[in-house]
Amino acid sequence: MDGALRRERLAAELRARGLDALLVTRLPNVRYLSGFTGSNGQVVVAADARAVLLTDGRYEGQAAREAPDLERVVYRDRAPLPHALDAARSLGASRLGFEASLAYREARELEERADGLEVAPVDGLVERLRWVKDEEELRALARAQELTDLAFARLPDLLREGLTERDLALELEFEVRRAGAEALAFDPIVAFGEHAAEPHHRPCDRALRRGDVVKVDLGARASGYHADTTRTVAFGEPPAELRELHALVARAQAAGLAALRAGARTGEVDAAARGTIAEAGFGERFPHGLGHGVGLEIHEGPWLRAEGAEELPAGAVVTVEPGVYVPGLGGVRIEDVAVVGPEGARVLGRVPRELVVV
Ligand code: ZN
Ligand code: ZN
Repeated sequence: MDGALRRERLAAELRARGLDALLVTRLPNVRYLSGFTGSNGQVVVAADARAVLLTDGRYEGQAAREAPDLERVVYRDRAPLPHALDAARSLGASRLGFEASLAYREARELEERADGLEVAPVDGLVERLRWVKDEEELRALARAQELTDLAFARLPDLLREGLTERDLALELEFEVRRAGAEALAFDPIVAFGEHAAEPHHRPCDRALRRGDVVKVDLGARASGYHADTTRTVAFGEPPAELRELHALVARAQAAGLAALRAGARTGEVDAAARGTIAEAGFGERFPHGLGHGVGLEIHEGPWLRAEGAEELPAGAVVTVEPGVYVPGLGGVRIEDVAVVGPEGARVLGRVPRELVVV
């Protein structure tokens, strides 16, 4: 992992903001900057790109293995902040930023113990750097997608009358893990028939019947990176209206993907898909944003949402996931992960997008 390059980019941002160092406490950001994957760790990065990784005694060996190029501090108590302040002082900082996501109690403690150091909250700085994926990250995302595709390829064979949503979720998890995923990216969403009208239905004991749609939202995790794919298939011939909805959502997704390119505004991409759905009279039935960034977190920036004004950079990786949900009837969502390029977007997965009837 090229942590040094990532820390250089962060250091440049710190200099531009007049900060001497940043205390990084959000774990995905710690991992991004240091390579350290333990459940407790902090990094202090200075404006000259020197950095100190802090963790507790449980992770001494792991930190040395995963972040051999960083100076490391291993504490034996459960109080990272005094050690982080010491690390900032050792790096010569007098103006220290801290991540605004820090808990209120901890931010207060940091201010109380600052003792001459000026501390100031900084919002979303490392998250913004993470929008643009490097080659290693793109490889991990492609691997996570490959494992997800394998599970979706098995989906038609898994469907049988009487199977419950919960059973199917469990079987899909088994497929993903057996394919080699380190974990699921999130708890799978499995919704049969009328349950598909809920965008984020939690799998329950509803049994599969002929004529049901089957909505599955699933992703594998590989090397810390997440995949996120939704397909809506039919178990037997679905109601005609759902067939039409599927075609509509597929058109909306194609419009969103076609609008996705470096330099496009997030709101423009959302509008391309949303407009297709609104023209068909289902605007009110698409109650969420078009998509989200995906990487070390399943949901991260950039966010494709109505009115979004951010410009998409090349190398951003986002989902495009329009959905239409009709209470009492069911719903359709089609979701893929795409890499943003200068000329357009490249979809990572290979799961067919037309309506599959099992
Ligand atoms: Zn999803
Ligand atoms: Zn998603």
